[in-house]
Amino acid sequence: MIIRQIETFQVAVPLKKAFKTALRTVTVAEAIYVRIQLEDGREGYGEAPPTHVITGESLASIQFAIEKVFKPILIGKDLRYHDQLFQALHLSIVRNTSAKAAIDMALYDLISQEAGLPLFQYLGGARSELTTDYTVSVNDPHEMANDALSYIQDGFQTLKVKVGIGEIEEDIKRIKAIREAVGSDIKIRLDANQGWNPKEAVKAILQMEQEQLKIEFIEQPVLAHDLEGLKFVTDHTLTPIMADESVFSLYDAKRVIEMRAADLINIKLMKAGGIYQALKIATLAQSHDMKCMTGSMIETKLGVGAAAHFAASQSNIIYYDFDAPLMLKDDLLEGGIKYQGANITFDAASGLGIKQIKKGGK
Ligand code: MG
Repeated sequence: MIIRQIETFQVAVPLKKAFKTALRTVTVAEAIYVRIQLEDGREGYGEAPPTHVITGESLASIQFAIEKVFKPILIGKDLRYHDQLFQALHLSIVRNTSAKAAIDMALYDLISQEAGLPLFQYLGGARSELTTDYTVSVNDPHEMANDALSYIQDGFQTLKVKVGIGEIEEDIKRIKAIREAVGSDIKIRLDANQGWNPKEAVKAILQMEQEQLKIEFIEQPVLAHDLEGLKFVTDHTLTPIMADESVFSLYDAKRVIEMRAADLINIKLMKAGGIYQALKIATLAQSHDMKCMTGSMIETKLGVGAAAHFAASQSNIIYYDFDAPLMLKDDLLEGGIKYQGANITFDAASGLGIKQIKKGGK
């Protein structure tokens, strides 16, 4: 299992509708794809999107990390000793977590191909099917209610609603408009993407509880670095609070758990630096009986597929946010995970199950 070649190429796919959060607006999904080839000709694939406002990475920085930092330390190495390789990968450069994740998922693709198992089974196989939510971008209340209704008509039973822009009263109006439009049976989770301050977050969440808006949980109400603020919100409300941008590394997760700053953690491969570290965060959370979600950035089916395999392998990852490929106008892959409405299933093929990159690559 000797690594012979590592190649990168850039891809871009337009979105059907602009994706808007408190942090950014995205109209085109861009990414660096990675292909790792072994001496026996087998290939593994990976993806890293440039999410400047969250990970600090750009297409150029991802390409630099892979071509100039990771490639020299991986070429010629034996994948049978992969723990050493993952250690070397993480020690070779600080941060650059999406670039690391792209290499990491391509290596796991190859390792599980060698084992003859789909990646989710190789990692533990907790379940064989997942159900994703669908994200409602932050806009005016009327547009959000209309978007929400159309997603429900497409078969989604859980909505992830983006809030955190403008006055917090406006956010309450947005949530009320959506709840009114979709009825009481649809699950609604919120993501403020750091857009609130701790006190106004508590006030707004208490109002949502009083008005019985039935919010499943709330992601990242306050600034990523403000763990005391996050804890203040968690301590003063009943609605479960989830840490997203506050938790990149295993050490971030440890601090959040020890402080009890949040009830839940959103583990993303692009923040953790790939599956190797994400598994450690899930295990740490499990040891504290904490449930997790796995989501993605705006990624194609390649990166989201790897995240879905990881999520399906772990029993304490019970929430899934894997709608990004459904927002894209095109699918660049042959093979990989399959969507049917909100349901995601896995190919019987080993690894990530990717047969080839159809177009947009080299
Ligand atoms: Mg989030």
